[in-house]
Amino acid sequence: MEFSAVVVAAGVGARAGPGGAKQWRTLAGRPVVRWSLEALLAAGARDVVVVTAPGAQGEAAKALAGLPRWRAVAGGETRAQSVRNGLAALEGDEESIVLVHDAARPLLTQPAIQRLLVALETAPGAILALPLADTLKRDDGAGAIAGTADRAGLWRAQTPQAFRLGALRAAFAAWPEGETPTDEASLAERDGMRVALVAGDPALAKLTYPEDFAMAERLAGSARTVRVGQGFDAHRFGPGSGVMLCGVPIAHDHGLVGHSDADAGLHALTDAILGAIGEGDIGDHFPPSDPRWKDASSDRFLTHAVELLAGRGGRVLNADVTLICERPKIKPHRQAMRERLAELLRTPVSAVSVKATTTEGMGFAGREEGLAAQAVAAVELPA
Ligand code: MG
Repeated sequence: MEFSAVVVAAGVGARAGPGGAKQWRTLAGRPVVRWSLEALLAAGARDVVVVTAPGAQGEAAKALAGLPRWRAVAGGETRAQSVRNGLAALEGDEESIVLVHDAARPLLTQPAIQRLLVALETAPGAILALPLADTLKRDDGAGAIAGTADRAGLWRAQTPQAFRLGALRAAFAAWPEGETPTDEASLAERDGMRVALVAGDPALAKLTYPEDFAMAERLAGSARTVRVGQGFDAHRFGPGSGVMLCGVPIAHDHGLVGHSDADAGLHALTDAILGAIGEGDIGDHFPPSDPRWKDASSDRFLTHAVELLAGRGGRVLNADVTLICERPKIKPHRQAMRERLAELLRTPVSAVSVKATTTEGMGFAGREEGLAAQAVAAVELPA
């Protein structure tokens, strides 16, 4: 089901301790806000508006670098005003679905998003929530119990909260000036909307205090999954004065024959990434029969695979390429290749390896009829 999202990242985070606003801080190696964006994108969000404090859009750009289908807008003085600004920036008709989510709840999962979307098939609004499990005590103001409160029928509201765009905008318009709702469901309830309670997730607890980060770090490991793909490619030598390998031009007494620039290194690596996400192979995405790819620079093939991965909330962890040829000599170009691949893969250079071997004169590579490349890539995706 198609949906868009507003992610509220406008807090200044005074309670979460030193280190700045919590949505820009790091949780298990990635910015807090990035976790939510990756989960929403992986679930198919077509458009995500990230609402930041005025002037903090640069923080968002840094934290969300490389991710598609999002933009930042400035928030207002209250959460409600921030959400309102986010909704105003969304495109889509009145019936389109919007999920409103707190960036401070980073451990969002695909099943949680799916539960909300399913609930919206029969209810005009739906939120993630958990029934209260603990007994509730009221204090006497002096550190002792004054009484026990009835917890029956009480739920803890989480986010995302899901609505039809038109109905949520109308609920905001009807809210009395000066009152500050703490979530979108309050507005919808007041407007008389039926809002379904959908099973939430304890891991979605809001990061509020410094100790919440420690708890979330422990839970974060199970929120991501690692996958591996491999690729192989070979091209024939032909007339020419140089070859492209791993995105680097190398002078040689032959060229390589192929429909594109015949960069076997980039082709093998593209296939490795497509393999890791089950997206077929390079020929499915760039058919050799298509004149658009004639003599094309192969970096666009790899970029396409990396963008498909990013669109699912994933990223490359590392890549290892082996080039198989007698000549040209690879070693002098190895560092340039690593640097170019790292740029294309959006990883540090240390995450990219390029190796070379001969086949000791055996086979097509040994007879210098052509060269080959194989590649392995590990990627990380929302679980
Ligand atoms: Mg090829």
